[in-house]
Amino acid sequence: MTTIIHGAEIVTVDDWDSVHYDHAIAIQGDRIAAIGPNEALFGQFPQAERIDGTGRAVLPGFANTHTHLTMTLARGIYEDLSPQHRPPYTAGLSPLPLPELSTGERRVMARLGALEALRSGTTLVFEDTNQVDDYAADLAATGLRFVLGERAHDRVGSGIGDPTPFRLDPSLAARALQTIEAAHGKWHGAADGRIQVAVSAWAPDMCSPELLGQLRRLQERLGALATIHLNQIWGEVRAVQAHRGRRPVEYLADLGFLNERLVCAHCRCMAPREEKRLGAAGATVAFNAAIAARRGLSPRIAELEAHGCTITMGSDNMAEDMVEVMRTGLFMERVRRQDGREPTPEAVLRWATRNGYRALGIPDGGWLAPGNQADLIMVDLCRAHLVPVLRVVSDFVHQGQARDVAAVMVAGRWLMRDGTVLTMDEPGLLAEAQAVAEAAWGRLFRRRLDLKPPQGFRPLG
Ligand SMILES: [Zn+2]
Repeated sequence: MTTIIHGAEIVTVDDWDSVHYDHAIAIQGDRIAAIGPNEALFGQFPQAERIDGTGRAVLPGFANTHTHLTMTLARGIYEDLSPQHRPPYTAGLSPLPLPELSTGERRVMARLGALEALRSGTTLVFEDTNQVDDYAADLAATGLRFVLGERAHDRVGSGIGDPTPFRLDPSLAARALQTIEAAHGKWHGAADGRIQVAVSAWAPDMCSPELLGQLRRLQERLGALATIHLNQIWGEVRAVQAHRGRRPVEYLADLGFLNERLVCAHCRCMAPREEKRLGAAGATVAFNAAIAARRGLSPRIAELEAHGCTITMGSDNMAEDMVEVMRTGLFMERVRRQDGREPTPEAVLRWATRNGYRALGIPDGGWLAPGNQADLIMVDLCRAHLVPVLRVVSDFVHQGQARDVAAVMVAGRWLMRDGTVLTMDEPGLLAEAQAVAEAAWGRLFRRRLDLKPPQGFRPLG
């Protein structure tokens, strides 16, 4: 079965950032078969199904290299509750706890996140969570690709960013290591290889040196990817300095934790010597631009990239919209550099697609070329905010919206076409997610009368 999308603007993200206007792309099975002039591909594949791509762009799908899908539960709430960036530092990233969810409720919120990801053109997601087995089957059923990071920590009685003494509970580590192995055994390579399982350490101030050593050895033994939240907030830096007498990157480097298959989320509160050391290890940085902007903190992406880090992009909490993440990243980095030209839209698109795929172990995905994975999206360009289409990459990165994504294909299979999601019951899921969130926050505020609902919160039912 061959499909040809013709008459489209093909954005390849190849080594030359080639763009082919009014061209065709052929897909056979789960691979891209050819890219070329319309008539040439019609001749090459006379039996192919033809899809008119006039007025549309075909791009590689986005790789979101850091998110927590079930935290869609805190949408509209946590965006405005960041910890402060000066002493006194307190534990945790929000003064309001996340309401507890039943397994059924977690599944709903995870599917909501996956739906938003798909709608924004994301085809590969690194989901960092715990008890991923609760909803791995739901994620597999969406048709998207996932790296599922099962998270470990062994500090008790506190959260990220707390410089008070580290209280260790070794039983937490033992349990987490078992859970990671079990998840890996059950899910790694599942759904025709669309699912991978990774080793996840929560954060440097939430993990003892013993646990980080064990996780590193487990990563090696499983041949898996690993991830960690790193230099996320200034409280974390202060906590690691208090506990280990070093900065977070130095702590990890001294333990041998840094490696080329490690995805470091955030990397915002860094000393220049840490940026150098992270780059020398060839680690990947997940530039989570939207949440970074909301927190009022920015990583130094130009420096991290110059030192050798692979720059990728992630959404992190509360949102899965990679179109917004891309543009926010471009804006933030231009403001920080005081440079109205760099980074270019081509560079940012590469971070969000090909770099992410390569970092997550799929070097033949995230860019369009014959023989590569058929993971792609179609963007409707006939929009008041996109016409005239003269330089399509700049046009979409600067002006595009998630709702311009009209179709999504993963491994040669359509997951969304003509604006309709094919693998999820969208209206049903939206209603369910609203009900789950209202019930969960209602339970929390009714049980914890010391907690005040934030400004503008809807009346509790
Ligand atoms: Zn995170």
